[in-house]
Amino acid sequence: MLTPVLSDNWDQIRSWQLASYQRSGGYDALRTALRMQPADVVTAVKDSGLRGRGGAGFPTGMKWSFIPQDNPKPKYLVVNADESEPGTCKDIPLMMASPHTLVEGVIIASYAIRASVAFIYVRGEVLHVIRRLQQAVEEAKQAGFIGTDILGTGYDLDVVVHAGAGAYICGEETALLDSLEGRRGQPRLRPPFPAVAGLYGCPTVINNVESIASVPAIIRNGVDWFASMGTEKSKGMTLYSLSGHVTRPGQYEAPLGITLRELIDLAGGIREGHELKFWTPGGSSTPLLTAEHLDVPLDYEGVGSVGSMLGTKALQIFDETVCVVRSVLRWTEFYKHESCGKCTPCREGTWWLVQILERLEAGKGTEADLDTLLDLSENILGRSFCALGDGATAPITSSIQYFKDEYLAHFSHGGCPFDPMASTVFA
Ligand code: NAD
Ligand code: SF4
Repeated sequence: MLTPVLSDNWDQIRSWQLASYQRSGGYDALRTALRMQPADVVTAVKDSGLRGRGGAGFPTGMKWSFIPQDNPKPKYLVVNADESEPGTCKDIPLMMASPHTLVEGVIIASYAIRASVAFIYVRGEVLHVIRRLQQAVEEAKQAGFIGTDILGTGYDLDVVVHAGAGAYICGEETALLDSLEGRRGQPRLRPPFPAVAGLYGCPTVINNVESIASVPAIIRNGVDWFASMGTEKSKGMTLYSLSGHVTRPGQYEAPLGITLRELIDLAGGIREGHELKFWTPGGSSTPLLTAEHLDVPLDYEGVGSVGSMLGTKALQIFDETVCVVRSVLRWTEFYKHESCGKCTPCREGTWWLVQILERLEAGKGTEADLDTLLDLSENILGRSFCALGDGATAPITSSIQYFKDEYLAHFSHGGCPFDPMASTVFA
């Protein structure tokens, strides 16, 4: 069942160094790609069925094919390494363990879209990752994989590792572009999409780290090999991040379409003596799910069929000791803090959501507050300028859908029933 591809070399000695990466076939895919026409590389990625691993699942090859090659402006590749979604922790281990997988993917993708400069935008807090990537880029330059006339093909490419400044909104692709251009990171109106007018107004492909890191294996092993894994519409293997109340939290690489039940088995089960209460399929911007969803296939269609989204595949697992109201309050505080302030529904709405949730969590609210929360969420969802506002409503509406009793218990209890100082524990 397990298909280690992205993570197959992670346990090698000094897996992050060029010599180790090359011992496992590293940069063979680049040689193959450079013998192909750029358009054929785009077609291969398109035919593989690879979909964006940053959360939205947009077909990667299709995005590359949107780059207008008759446009005389420079083309850019930008890697979104600003991983910040709560619970999401797959790109950082990938870049730490095997930065060359990403660097090789960057060179192949840049060649395919005919970019001569690529940027890797990394969140500023992870200095160790930035240093590791810089070392990998330098090693690749010394080896002739980056620079002028790469491997004697006449293709030139420079790769720049850029440190962000630690704002969640800069993971939104157009805010990231603003930040990269040296301005305050705030989302731009789309369309035009970056493929048409992106960095410095030029055609730009923006892809997540895992999407780009998946490309070398596709070129090396073939389109059919990749398409043979996963489900009909969600192809390939991917990284699932399990955190919270499982015995062995961590990264699990498996095909798309695996279920949470199977992943929890791989992670040694829910911690002993406890049971699953709720979980997130893709960080806190996706609706909460419960034990009744354990057998939902974790792919874009399967999770969609239960009204959620696959998102970043950050599976946060909570057992019965956790207060869902407190969890939702914590996430909402995060969105309030990270709201960039550009649009009113999100800027004002997240502030009000926190005010009400604080009251509810303290047991001082009324049932009417739940209606206000739902009303506010309805007015934020679809009316916000970017996905941050929409995401902020997901834990609220889904928690009221599945755990209304627990909200009500806070009123009847006059406080959080999970508080160890409280007289009784909510059952
Ligand atoms: P989106 O569906 O609007 O776009 C996805 C991608 O497809 C973008 O690159 C966009 O430019 C491209 N695209 C879509 N339609 C296009 C068109 N017609 N022409 C050309 N290109 C087109 O999603 P989004 O708002 O970019 O991202 C939302 C996702 O981000 C959520 O699903 C969430 O899971 C994820 N997310 C991830 C993190 C993280 O840390 N990895 C953090 C927050 C959110
Ligand atoms: Fe900024 Fe929030 Fe509006 Fe997005 S939804 S533009 S983060 S205020």
